[in-house]
Amino acid sequence: MGTWNVGLFKVTEIEEFVIQLGLLNGLIPQATPEVIRELGWLQPQYVNDAGEIRANVHSIVVDTGDTKILVDAGCGNGKSYPMQPSWGGLDTPFLERLEKAGYGREDIDIILLTHLHLDHVGWCSMQDESGKWVPTFPNARLILVRDEYERHLSQIISSDALDSSATAAAQGEDESEEDRIARAFLPDAEALSNQTRLIQEETFQPVIDAGHLELVPPGTEIVPGVRYVSTPGHTSAHHSVRLESDGQAAFITGDFFHHPLQIARPEWSSAGDWDAEVLTKNRRAFLESAAGTDLLVFGTHFVEPSVGYIVKDGEGYRLTPTTPATQR
Ligand SMILES: [Zn+2]
Repeated sequence: MGTWNVGLFKVTEIEEFVIQLGLLNGLIPQATPEVIRELGWLQPQYVNDAGEIRANVHSIVVDTGDTKILVDAGCGNGKSYPMQPSWGGLDTPFLERLEKAGYGREDIDIILLTHLHLDHVGWCSMQDESGKWVPTFPNARLILVRDEYERHLSQIISSDALDSSATAAAQGEDESEEDRIARAFLPDAEALSNQTRLIQEETFQPVIDAGHLELVPPGTEIVPGVRYVSTPGHTSAHHSVRLESDGQAAFITGDFFHHPLQIARPEWSSAGDWDAEVLTKNRRAFLESAAGTDLLVFGTHFVEPSVGYIVKDGEGYRLTPTTPATQR
C-alpha cells in the first residue's frame, strides 16, 4: 500500500483485507493452474505455486488538492452479506488505515463507486454506538452513475413476483461443472433480491436520508481531472475512473479487470460477469490504447504490486509495476 503521484494529484491505496486463498478458485474458469503457470510474469506475486489467484479488497483515495475522493468502498464492517458470508460481519481497521494515510472520516468530500457489488459499497455507512447505520463520511456526497444504481435496484423483486420456478431451476443432477461454478457466483434471483435489499437498507439508505446521494449520467466529469469512464461488461453500467493532472493520466479499473491475468488474457471473463463478449471487446480496446503509454493503471483487486503500465506481451499484454512515491 502506498501513494502515487499523478500530476498534482496524490493517489493512495487503503487496504481493507486480503481475499482468502482458494475463495476465488473457479472465478475465472479458463484460468486453470496449468494454463496460469505458462504466464510466468504472474508468479509469484499474483498467483501462487499451486496456481491459485491472489487478490485483495482495497479503496483508493484521490486527493486533487481541493477535493478528496474515495473510489470504491470495500465491504465495510458488520454488514449482512448472506451471498458472501465470509465478507459479512467484518471488523477490519480500514478507517484507522485511512486515518494513518492522512484522511479522517470528515475529510472525504466525495465517494465514487465503480459498481454496486457488495465488495465495493460497504464503507458508505457504518454503525454508530447504538448500532444505527449512519454515513461513514459525514461530509461526503455519494456520486453514482444513475444506470448502475437503477440496475442495482432492479434486482429487488417483490415477494409476489418471486416465482418458485426461478429458484427451482438449474438444480438438476446433470448440471455441468461449468454451470455449477457459474451458479456459485450467480445466485438465484431470490437470494440476489434479498442481498440487494440488505445493501440498500444498511449501506445506501443512511446516505439517502442524509441527502447525500447524487446520480449522474455515464461518463460524467466529477471534478476537473476526475471522470467516470464507461466500461460495461462486469455489470451493464460498470464505470472505471480516469484521472488527469498536469499532463499525467491514470486509470482505476474497478472490476473491469479482476486480476492481472485478465491483462494477459483479456478474453478470460469471470463467472458472474454480465456480458463476457462485451467485456472482452472493451478490455481489448482499452489494453490496445494503453499499451506502451504512460497511463498508470490501478488494479482495484490487484495485490501488490498493484499499480503499473500496460505493455504488449506476445498475444496479450502484461503489467509493468511501478513503486509508489511513498510506501507504507
Ligand atoms: Zn469486486
